[in-house]
Amino acid sequence: MVIIKSISAKEIFDSRKEKTIIVSIKTNVGTFSASSPNGKSKGKHEAKSYKKSLEQDIKTIKKFSDYFSKEIIESFDDLRRIEDIINGFIGANTLFALESAILKAVAKKQKKKIWELINPSAKRFPRLVGNCIGGGKHSKTTAEKKPDFQEFLLIPNSKSVKESFEINKKTKNNVQNILKKNDKNFKNKKNDEDAWITSLNEKEIFEILKTLKIPTGTDIASSTFYKRKKYNYENPMIKRSIEEQLGYISNLIKNFDLFYIEDPFDEEDFESFSRLLKKFPKKLIVGDDLTVTNYKRLKKAIEMKSINGIIVKPNQIGSLLEVKEVCDLAKKENIKIIFSHRSGETEENILADLAFGFQADFFKSGITGKEREIKMKRLIEIEKSLDK
Ligand code: PEP
Ligand code: MG
Repeated sequence: MVIIKSISAKEIFDSRKEKTIIVSIKTNVGTFSASSPNGKSKGKHEAKSYKKSLEQDIKTIKKFSDYFSKEIIESFDDLRRIEDIINGFIGANTLFALESAILKAVAKKQKKKIWELINPSAKRFPRLVGNCIGGGKHSKTTAEKKPDFQEFLLIPNSKSVKESFEINKKTKNNVQNILKKNDKNFKNKKNDEDAWITSLNEKEIFEILKTLKIPTGTDIASSTFYKRKKYNYENPMIKRSIEEQLGYISNLIKNFDLFYIEDPFDEEDFESFSRLLKKFPKKLIVGDDLTVTNYKRLKKAIEMKSINGIIVKPNQIGSLLEVKEVCDLAKKENIKIIFSHRSGETEENILADLAFGFQADFFKSGITGKEREIKMKRLIEIEKSLDK
């Protein structure tokens, strides 16, 4: 059993040089730490990262430092004891980091890997979803234009995670050369998620991706450019009504054979998601800002038949027990699960264990960049450990 003797927290910087939290726990089996990432194109309905502020949560953690010494933690479900005491006093980033550190301690004590605490018979590995070209809120505005869509994704269908990772890296290099030829403003620069920055628009990018012979997708993150009932495109400048957005996205799916479409409509518009899914039941219509790893919102999306895929970002909700509830419901309803990084990442790699433990169908964690590769490498390590 694990006994928590004390807890503490401090701020560190994420890949975007923004402040985030790292929580450390002292236990009878040693000291363990875990950190949380930060989003930029956050969903309106995400749990707040901190109760009031990061600084305040650090103080709260200090106050609770010796509150857990009577709690015996032996399993994933014992996180309930922690939540019963502290949930409501801290934000989602702090809770996720604390629970992650606790799982590390339990795994160590039981000589198991974290994924085994969640599902010891996990077998199937998720398929990689890699961000190759970026736009929207993740790409810094320069004098030139940028794509309105946030992410252009490669989704290889290879037999191993390792091979898929290699394919994604190679293809991303290849895309750099294509952009050099096709985009006169291309400066070999990368954005928050280490994806290429380009001045091309989404159609021009899909033309390129079409030539790659890899299943592709996009995160439109459309809430970021939906204002006053219009989708306000800048590259080129066009305002699209909801109806026009539905027509436009449908044409893109057909013309470019897109396999994966995330957040094509505003985060409140369950109805339009549902109309799109009805037209394209074989494509993956994914909710992120729509569902924000929230059980109630997933339930609504299921009732309205809005999605057949859900993004799971643990720090959107904070509680790993709720992450489990979301995954269980998604599986029961045949909704594909995509575990995902945030645009501001840390060197934490627990996402890979969580994705494998919860038997996610996809793993979205970029292609290159230290913070993202760390997660991919952990997933490959798990794959190797099971390769008998
Ligand atoms: C996303 O929208 O999928 C994403 C990773 O964005 P962020 O982390 O900035 O919310
Ligand atoms: Mg998204």
